Amino acid sequence: AKRSGRANYQCYTAALERETEGAFLIEARLRNSLRDGGLQLHYQPVVDVKSGELIGAEALVRMSFPSGTDISPDKFIPIAESSGLIAELGKWVAREACRQHKQWAEQGLDLTIAINVSPLQFRHQNFADTLRDIISDVGVDAERLEIEVTESAIMDNLDEAVAILNRIKSLGMRVALDDFGTGYSSLSSLTHLPIDKLKVDQSFIRSLENDAASRSVTDAIIALGRSLNLEVHGEGIESENALRYLQEHGCDQAQGYWFSRPMPALEFMRWYQQRRQN
Ligand code: C2E
Ligand code: CA
Ligand code: CA
Ligand code: CA
Repeated sequence: AKRSGRANYQCYTAALERETEGAFLIEARLRNSLRDGGLQLHYQPVVDVKSGELIGAEALVRMSFPSGTDISPDKFIPIAESSGLIAELGKWVAREACRQHKQWAEQGLDLTIAINVSPLQFRHQNFADTLRDIISDVGVDAERLEIEVTESAIMDNLDEAVAILNRIKSLGMRVALDDFGTGYSSLSSLTHLPIDKLKVDQSFIRSLENDAASRSVTDAIIALGRSLNLEVHGEGIESENALRYLQEHGCDQAQGYWFSRPMPALEFMRWYQQRRQN
């Protein structure tokens, strides 16, 4: 027993070392990318469920190793948070998304651009001031920008979150609660939140077809949104059936691989033009 305990321990240590090394490499890559312009934003279409029209895009950050291997944001965002790089990364994302919004607007494509904000970044002292400065610097219409913050980030400290959200709203920006349904919102606290939209978590949308509980949760979120006068947005739509379900149940907006994967800006514009011709 002693022996296998020791073997387990060594195995555990080796795994931990590999992981630490991985995190170290990713942090180094992130530092370099921030300095050398090695980050990219991809954009995923957001479609109005009733009209089928393109109305927005979610900006999603991309980073890769020099070898070309992509590093998932699910992996490097937590590392950006623990290494203190998240503020700088968040600023870059916001500025780049604003710049892209402006360029598209000048080309006649006036979309609402959604920007993801990590919990730590959201709680950062002058987050709202930073946004205000970027918006006025780039010169964009704040009403076309949407901040996505997760339900759990907000519920962690509700009073503080409401104060921050109020400041964001006072700039004219929109706010969406991301990954909704997976956190622990109390229904009464939701009525006090200055938000515009609920994004139904992908896990429910993806199992709409074969899981009655997921349908119930989705229906409940749509009803909740309606009664609180919030838009409801389904993400992770991968099939026509899922889209039809949302259509029939009164969901407002949809996003997912069924329409398109996230794309670089140029490809996004081509996708839009092609879609308009058909
Ligand atoms: P999220 O905000 O929930 O973003 C949605 C994720 O689902 C994206 O993954 C998107 O590519 C993926 N997705 C969209 N439609 C489908 C679909 O139909 N099927 C499937 N299987 N997946 C779909 P991605 O880009 O890898 O981002 C993962 C997470 O990383 C995001 O989850 C978000 O939490 C975080 N993230 C991404 N970009 C940023 C950023 O600029 N700032 C911050 N703070 N976080 C970001
Ligand atoms: Ca999001
Ligand atoms: Ca989400
Ligand atoms: Ca997520």
